[in-house]
Amino acid sequence: MAQQQSPLALRSLEEVPDPAPGRRFVLKNLYNFLNREIFDGALPSKMEVRWESSLHTSFGKSSPAGPIRLSHTLLYKHPSRDFLIDVLLHEMIRQRQHQFAPQEKGNGPYFMAEMERINTAFGRRVAVTFSSPYSLRQLDKVCKHRWKCTSCAFVVKKSRAIPPGAEKRREHSDTGCSGELVKMTPNTVAGDIAAYCAASLAAEEQLQ
Ligand SMILES: [Zn+2]
Repeated sequence: MAQQQSPLALRSLEEVPDPAPGRRFVLKNLYNFLNREIFDGALPSKMEVRWESSLHTSFGKSSPAGPIRLSHTLLYKHPSRDFLIDVLLHEMIRQRQHQFAPQEKGNGPYFMAEMERINTAFGRRVAVTFSSPYSLRQLDKVCKHRWKCTSCAFVVKKSRAIPPGAEKRREHSDTGCSGELVKMTPNTVAGDIAAYCAASLAAEEQLQ
């Protein structure tokens, strides 16, 4: 029987691991820590906070009564604990907005002021949007009829959903790579998306 991860309290943000494949630390512990240290415990302690594998369009999502969901698919390939913390903070500010400024839609004055307060007081880099630049439909389009090598950047595009033939396989093996060509899925391109998002954020920062 799988052992349950114990809900130990976090003592510092240094204890948060970088997101990585197969590593699903308990997000609720991070939520509790941030709630205590940054929001003076004003957010509901009973909030459900969980990883979600089927979230491909955004790094995080939440609704007024919860749950807060973070995209495991996108975040686990993003090698930054700080990015993960800022994404969760974004969703927590959203929860506070639901509580104290329910009339406000999207990133209104309340959201912006709270984001500014946290970034200034705690040296965080919470952003207005962490959304993926690709929609699920675009992702499906990118992946459709494409096979990608598991160890190099070799990609085969086909017009139909049939695996690459002998000629394409030889073209790949002639490069000296013995990796396997597998059908692309939104999951296998998630790393590219994370890199794209990081580049977009850096570009936005330079504009400011
Ligand atoms: Zn290869």
